[in-house]
Amino acid sequence: MKVACVGGGPAGLYFSILMKKRDPSHDITVYERNAAGSTYGWGVTMSKGLFKKLRRADPESAASLEASAARWSSYSIGVRDCTTVKEGWDPGSGIGRRQLLDILAERARELGVRIEYEHEITSEEELADADLIFAGDGVNSALRQRHADHFGEKFAVGQNYYVWLGTSKVFEPFTYLFVETEHGWVWAYGYKYGDDRSTCIIECAPKTWHGLGFDRMSETDCLRMLEKLFASILDGHPLMGRVTPGTTANWLNFRTLTNRTWHRGNLVLAGDAAHTTHYSIGAGTRLAFGDAAVLARLLHEDLPLDEALDLYERERKSALQSTGRAAYRSARWYEHLPRYVELPPEIMIALLGLRRSAVLTFVPPKLYYRFDQASRRLGLKGKKPARRG
Ligand SMILES: Cc1cc2nc3c(=O)[nH]c(=O)nc-3n(C[C@H](O)[C@H](O)[C@H](O)COP(=O)(O)OP(=O)(O)OC[C@H]3O[C@@H](n4cnc5c(N)ncnc54)[C@H](O)[C@@H]3O)c2cc1C
Repeated sequence: MKVACVGGGPAGLYFSILMKKRDPSHDITVYERNAAGSTYGWGVTMSKGLFKKLRRADPESAASLEASAARWSSYSIGVRDCTTVKEGWDPGSGIGRRQLLDILAERARELGVRIEYEHEITSEEELADADLIFAGDGVNSALRQRHADHFGEKFAVGQNYYVWLGTSKVFEPFTYLFVETEHGWVWAYGYKYGDDRSTCIIECAPKTWHGLGFDRMSETDCLRMLEKLFASILDGHPLMGRVTPGTTANWLNFRTLTNRTWHRGNLVLAGDAAHTTHYSIGAGTRLAFGDAAVLARLLHEDLPLDEALDLYERERKSALQSTGRAAYRSARWYEHLPRYVELPPEIMIALLGLRRSAVLTFVPPKLYYRFDQASRRLGLKGKKPARRG
């Protein structure tokens, strides 16, 4: 099979690896518009469960990814000046996006995949001789947008503003800090992804964002203001923004993407090109890997291509339902932060861990907390609340 993977992100690279493993005679090229070693973003979280799946799918790349990941086993949650450290929430780990992609690219090449960097693809006509075109070209997929009506793409835009930053501060526990300003709350989640680096995602409501002047501030001024607000967790380390400085910081509203269908002829969407889930549950990379694994399996089940693509779409849409709901509720929890943040710290922290709950929005938070505590005492629920990722 001649396969063209558009996009050298986690979806495209992992798909190329799994296809080659299943049949080395496949002719696979990954087209990535950026230069090798350049990517957006900082570190991403990876869970123990994900590593287990990756080990089963391709032990070689899983071993390199695990060796490069930085681990944490505790969580620190600060609200104003009061900090609580929680042990016993699920341990997690972080890996730099660049390292992740380098490891996958090296493994893909080892298996015989061609990777063409600085090669942008914007239409299927450029890949006319491919049997399959795998669109792993991210949330702004050009291949999807060309047929937006066919795919039925829909974006739900989140209210809050966020900015994805890096820092040289190494957060040992996964760290949350909620800071109150005269214009409202601003909060950060930080997690390490190496011996000298962490990711720091900062978020706030639109009123706060405008009130503090983030909408009109240069990136440098914005970073300096955030460093002051989060000085208690940064310990003098700087925050880092875009690799190529822009005029303003890269604040965004998260866009949750869904598509009515995921394939058209021999073109198939995967990863962020097909769906996105709010970053506060740290699942996008895992889902991109999952798409790649299911599609690679179905393409080797001796089915006509359109049937395999249909089954892929159905299986993945169904697998994504619960994660999509959890991501939506988690994003809403942060959009309704004032409802929770003024509660006594032990309740606020417990509800942070329970933010994916289907009923929390509809029940007074303290009542929900008491109900949750009682269920745990009676053994009706697990002991550990959910963390990020
Ligand atoms: C703030 C934030 C934090 C996140 N944190 C986490 C986390 O902790 N854990 C987690 O699992 N996920 C996280 N995610 C989500 C995760 O980054 C994505 O879900 C994941 O990268 C999707 O992989 P992908 O391969 O589908 O797309 P991408 O990673 O976006 O890769 C797409 C690739 O395609 C290339 N491309 C685009 N257009 C073209 C073209 N026309 N031709 C050729 N190449 C092209 C791009 O350059 C890019 O390399 C986070 C996302 C955000 C926004």
